[in-house]
Amino acid sequence: MILMTETIIEQIGPDLFRTEIPLPKNPLKATNSYLIIGKERNLIIDTGMNREECRTAMMDYLARLDVDLEKTDFFVTHLHTDHIGLVDVLLKENAEAYFNEPDAEILRQENLWELVCQLSAQHGFPVEEVDSAIDAHPGQRYSPENDVNYKMVEDGDVLNYGRFELHCVKTPGHTRGHTCLYDPNLKWFFSGDHILGDITPNISTWLIESNPLGEYFQSLDRVAGMEIELVLPGHRSLIRDHNKRIQELKEHHRRRLDEVFSIVIKHGPCNAFQTASYMTWDLVAAGWEDYPLMQKWFATGEALAHLRFLEVEGKLKREISEEVMYFYAQ
Ligand SMILES: [Zn+2]
Repeated sequence: MILMTETIIEQIGPDLFRTEIPLPKNPLKATNSYLIIGKERNLIIDTGMNREECRTAMMDYLARLDVDLEKTDFFVTHLHTDHIGLVDVLLKENAEAYFNEPDAEILRQENLWELVCQLSAQHGFPVEEVDSAIDAHPGQRYSPENDVNYKMVEDGDVLNYGRFELHCVKTPGHTRGHTCLYDPNLKWFFSGDHILGDITPNISTWLIESNPLGEYFQSLDRVAGMEIELVLPGHRSLIRDHNKRIQELKEHHRRRLDEVFSIVIKHGPCNAFQTASYMTWDLVAAGWEDYPLMQKWFATGEALAHLRFLEVEGKLKREISEEVMYFYAQ
């Protein structure tokens, strides 16, 4: 039996509500789903995963605020299932779901998981564990079941809902097409997973030619230059001082880069999986061996993003040995 607690709905301002859609057994705990009530149409920003607990919380949220889905559009900040998961279930025929092309392209990729599987083995993730890691991956288990005919937004596009004038701000890093929404009148910024308060957004990759951490730093600088009074993130609490938080996030990744560089200096050529095993992680477990498989998976992707950044900076080089990629200091 699933024990249900009543969904907490918070009114943030006139016409704007937030609820936390629960993510059971997930370190993120919940996804913030924002609802803007407009005269003609409403907008929901991010939805939670395609799983029972999220669906129940979402339906409760909508029922209690008397939201008519026929008059409700959706905006998805990025492709991760804790944001996009319920869009296909909730979207009515005449409603719009706004999304971005770079992330949509990844979701359209045929054999996405086979590809990810091959790539992770190339970065040292133990081949015998790849299948179980993929089976456990929330992106595999809780993503939307049906294709959605998304309306793609570009940087600078403006969406008007109620008293909100929402400008699309492309912030690649957490994902390639990650897009935030900014209201320049209210100076409110819906940040998705680009800026989070109590936790650090995961910056990871399996695609070695990309440099997501480099893009992330640029996207942080872009937002640092904006006039923002309130950040409304995809998880956890709202943020008042965006520049302070951006500074902390940049320092966090700089420290991580120093750590990864010292690991390669100390241990010699390392693949991403080995590097992750030497890094410090904020997890309750005796050691790397005891970490849940899924956390090792995310850790390896994150290690790779840092190794790749150091390679682009010219501090590391790569070599392939028996189909596995290793990084070494120049
Ligand atoms: Zn998220």
